[in-house]
Amino acid sequence: MSSPARVVVIGSANADLVVALNRRPGPGETVLGADVVVSPGGKGANQAVAAGRLGAAVAFLGAVGDDEHGELLLGSLRDAGVDVTHVARPARPTGNAYIMVTPDGENSIIVSPGANSAVTEADVDAARPVLAEAKTLVLSLEIPLSAVARAVAVAVELGVRPVLNLSPVAELPAEVLAVLDPLVVNEHEAAWLLGDEGEPEDFERLAVRLLDIGPRSVVVTIGAKGVVVADRDGVSTVPSPQVTAVDTTGAGDAFTGALAGRLADGEGLTEAARFAVRVAATSVTRHGAQPSYPGPGEVIG
Ligand code: ADP
Repeated sequence: MSSPARVVVIGSANADLVVALNRRPGPGETVLGADVVVSPGGKGANQAVAAGRLGAAVAFLGAVGDDEHGELLLGSLRDAGVDVTHVARPARPTGNAYIMVTPDGENSIIVSPGANSAVTEADVDAARPVLAEAKTLVLSLEIPLSAVARAVAVAVELGVRPVLNLSPVAELPAEVLAVLDPLVVNEHEAAWLLGDEGEPEDFERLAVRLLDIGPRSVVVTIGAKGVVVADRDGVSTVPSPQVTAVDTTGAGDAFTGALAGRLADGEGLTEAARFAVRVAATSVTRHGAQPSYPGPGEVIG
């Protein structure tokens, strides 16, 4: 019997279907692309795999279909040592992300949530015993907001630290926002939350303004520059190691998964972020989302 999960991730699992093309089709147009590459993704599954591969005891709660993509995702989670006992198998297809990649490096993505839409408050309630043993709960918004809000409420009741990546952006109930520790956003999500337009101002100032709207702590991810961490004790920039990036898909999820693992071990937020930027930087030096995540001996910096 494996040890109880210290990190619980409640979120999405998608098969990423990636096609490289010379240019994206316009309305009514058909273009030919390269061979499709299928790989395991979805923000929740990515975060769980990132933490699991680093050696954390992780459970993933989500939903995949009873199909080939569902097996692919469960296989990747299991390979990372993640407990998948609480993954539901509703009568819906596994979520898919259709990703078109053009030579300029731009992605256009269609997400078909499928089974992810079927994660309910009842699923969260059923996982209460698992949450009761955990230290950190990780959430993102590719599953219904009602399930996310329920998970945060249960976590708070059980004394579990809720970490939420506001992606894709959505309005959060004030009582959910108020307990996040941390709220993790990239610079676009930060601007959306604050109603800012145009070029971002100083990132430390941005993080402090986010702290002012409610959460207990904030992490703003700023790509190759690293992250800004803010809590009641202050604000600081945690720089990323310099690397040559080949594919940044899932880098934010690598960061959040690694961060959650270290927080569950009792590390402080800034110290955990110092480790997590090294993990995310390692992930951008390799292709794909989950396939790019390092084990403990592979983390650069
Ligand atoms: P998202 O992918 O969610 O838009 P970011 O682009 O901010 O978020 O990336 C998340 C994190 O991944 C960054 O804070 C950083 O730690 C790491 N990262 C992203 N791009 C690079 C890069 N080019 N070099 C090093 N680290 C990177």
